[in-house]
Amino acid sequence: MNIIKVVVILVVLYIVYRIVRMTGRAKVDKVKGYRVDDKPSSGEDLVQDPFCRTYVPKSQAYLREIDGREQFFCSRECCEKYLSANK
Ligand SMILES: [Zn+2]
Repeated sequence: MNIIKVVVILVVLYIVYRIVRMTGRAKVDKVKGYRVDDKPSSGEDLVQDPFCRTYVPKSQAYLREIDGREQFFCSRECCEKYLSANK
């Protein structure tokens, strides 16, 4: 009788362990999926660097007004190179 009780307890513990692991994984997957959907950079406007022709998100671009027009660059170096190339 004692051995059967021990076996039953072990089986129950194993099942509980599996359920806890499964639900734990499901939670992690849900969090990951939510983060991917909620990515702030997705859907953001891309602007083209007129010097190196790279597309950069508007919020990360280096903005400089040239001849009354706003120009977006991927970096300050590109802006300076662009300015010296157009002198
Ligand atoms: Zn650039």
